[in-house]
Amino acid sequence: MATAISSVGLEDKVTSFMKKDRKMLINGKWVESISGKTFPTYNPATGEVLVRVAEGDREDIDLAVKAARAAFEAGPWRKMSPSDRGKAIWRLGDLLEKNLEEFAELEMLDNGKPLKIARVADVPLAVDLFRYMAGWATKIEGNTIPFAKPGKYFAYTVREPIGVVGQVIPWNFPLLMAAWKLGPALATGCCVVLKPAEQTPLSALRLGELIQEAGIPDGVVNIVPGYGETAGAALAAHPDVDKIAFTGSTEVGKMILQAAAGNLKKVSLELGGKSPNVVFADGDIDQSVAGASMAIFFNHGQCCAAGSRLYVEKSIFDKVVDGVSEQAKKIKVGPGWEQSSDMGPLVSEEQLKRVCGYLESGISEGAKATAGGQRKGDKGYFVEPTVLVNTTEKMKVVKEEIFGPVVVAIPFSDTSEVVQKANDNIYGLASGIWTKDLSKAHKLAAQIRAGTVWINCYNVFDAALPFGGYKQSGWGREMGHDALEMYTETKAVCVGL
Ligand code: NAD
Ligand code: MG
Repeated sequence: MATAISSVGLEDKVTSFMKKDRKMLINGKWVESISGKTFPTYNPATGEVLVRVAEGDREDIDLAVKAARAAFEAGPWRKMSPSDRGKAIWRLGDLLEKNLEEFAELEMLDNGKPLKIARVADVPLAVDLFRYMAGWATKIEGNTIPFAKPGKYFAYTVREPIGVVGQVIPWNFPLLMAAWKLGPALATGCCVVLKPAEQTPLSALRLGELIQEAGIPDGVVNIVPGYGETAGAALAAHPDVDKIAFTGSTEVGKMILQAAAGNLKKVSLELGGKSPNVVFADGDIDQSVAGASMAIFFNHGQCCAAGSRLYVEKSIFDKVVDGVSEQAKKIKVGPGWEQSSDMGPLVSEEQLKRVCGYLESGISEGAKATAGGQRKGDKGYFVEPTVLVNTTEKMKVVKEEIFGPVVVAIPFSDTSEVVQKANDNIYGLASGIWTKDLSKAHKLAAQIRAGTVWINCYNVFDAALPFGGYKQSGWGREMGHDALEMYTETKAVCVGL
């Protein structure tokens, strides 16, 4: 409650948002859960409860799906002129921008990330995403189809909204993940039931208020907070949902897929990663060191794209490891509301235990920490930015996604070796290459099995740039033109002449 944030000196809006239990948004109304249950959401810098939130379950999901279905069939959104639809999405971006500070504070309190980062990354990227998708509303086109024997038939395709969409999102970028999901669904004319992560429901709920203010009709976006095993599972299995979009762990992604089989709803998945970041000796070492640090430590390593396997050409291995370790030690870890904090706490106690478990497992198997290696302090969920060396390919810290500020640094001798190592993983989400030799960079880019290759940069996201995974990192692409495909069906219309 207010006590948990009173010392922080945040603006009145956020303080008053925390003063009463937050409800869920169904059919344009803010309602309690049918069971009357609520759940707490915590400030990860202190472990204190911020506020309680309505706990959605199967019955609430069912009501929300009914509302979305009715809105879809009645068509206030689907049948609205595309330019009016685009305008409403643009207004949502404007409203978000107007309330940037409030959203940054909500993200900081609920997720733990530094306020200064939420201000320049999470909120502006979400604003951009809505504006980018607003532009697509008027540009969803089909094709005219040339037949083998011209003159007998005339055929064309149209792209129609897929219908009622369930969206389940994670806690690492709570607002931005809501935007990635809602933006293309709204642009294409779909109706939505969104389930935010139980760790971080607040910014999505506040966004629900702005969705109403933007003039998006009732029932088009329904927001049901709750736990994954209950509300999330009910949404994934719901027989009247046409598509489920999920971002989170690969483990849960597989469960979503199974749940979706009941009515063969369409599925898109944005899952985990263990992304290789490759540093060649011919590059600018300072730039590579800074890039490799940012690649893993941005957002406390709680990024599906985090550059968590750092491959360094042998001749500069020690130099780069020293450089990244030095950067890791310089990172100021502290509560998100302090201007000096570069890194906040991990999102939850569960996540703290997970990450510390990986650190213990790596170190007990012989890995050595050249920076960090353990929890920081005993209040809040802080972990030291960590660099591990002396690892072997069999170690869990090398193979599995840690989702924390932990990088494994591994030397390599030549390109063919690093290609083999980079691809030797179940994931294929992102990758990085640092070199001045562009021919080498492009040749390597072609050989890495990953949805994104960053060359001499990392963690660069843009609403226009598609993002998603090869292999077990997922199905489909978010953002860019590609995202629209996941929210539309192609209809072929054929006319006998
Ligand atoms: P998770 O996959 O359990 O949760 C993500 C979302 O899925 C949440 O909204 C959750 O409520 C929901 N969910 C959970 N179980 C569900 C189910 N059976 N059916 C439907 N929805 C369900 O992730 P987590 O437990 O918070 O984190 C565990 C690990 O997942 C992390 O350590 C990290 O490795 C990974 N992760 C990846 C991403 C990503 O962006 N790819 C995001 C968060 C977590
Ligand atoms: Mg989970």
